[in-house]
Amino acid sequence: MLARGITDTRVIDAMLHVPRHVFVDAALASHAYQDSALPIGEGQTISQPYMVAKMSQLLNLEGHERVLEIGTGCGYQTAVLSRLCRRVYSIERIPSLSERARCNLRAARHANVMLKCADGTLGWDEYAPFDAVLAAAGGGEVPSAWLNQLRDGGVLVMPVGNAGSHVLVRLRKRGGEVIEERFDACTFVPLIAGKVG
Ligand code: SAH
Repeated sequence: MLARGITDTRVIDAMLHVPRHVFVDAALASHAYQDSALPIGEGQTISQPYMVAKMSQLLNLEGHERVLEIGTGCGYQTAVLSRLCRRVYSIERIPSLSERARCNLRAARHANVMLKCADGTLGWDEYAPFDAVLAAAGGGEVPSAWLNQLRDGGVLVMPVGNAGSHVLVRLRKRGGEVIEERFDACTFVPLIAGKVG
């Protein structure tokens, strides 16, 4: 991690404290500490630890923030974020995954997390504005709801691109302007509008 530019000590500390094996199937537990994505059912994957660290670091969290996360999956990134900020509001579109994340996060005793099963492209208006937004699923465009629900000065991190080929993008909202920076090339599952079921 250090060799690949993860230098934020709070991020490294959070990664060391969240037991990744709790978030994957027992059958895959022996692979939980490899730096790779793993299947979590429903055709989805738990993100690669390096990507979780990199995206968390790009948010520059200090501890007081309220963060909107899109794509709860099994809840691993949610758990890492919950150690870095005041509260995480996380949305997942697949009910079985959202339910599983709830159990996993309870088992790992993360209390400052709110989960909902819904279409994350709409954001979570009720709790806006957020200090930061993180999407764990990639798409061609940043949904306008996320930028609208981001406070002025806030940051948004998302994989942008087409299926199988994304680049990690950070947007910073400043007054009427949005400043964009590009980071690693990466591969994420697609952001799909609409809730399942
Ligand atoms: N950080 C998660 C990664 C899960 S993969 C983890 O560590 O487990 C990304 C997730 O985004 C998938 O579970 C997928 O179902 C979800 N997703 C895709 N489009 C979505 C949308 N519009 N709203 C909410 N979740 C979405």
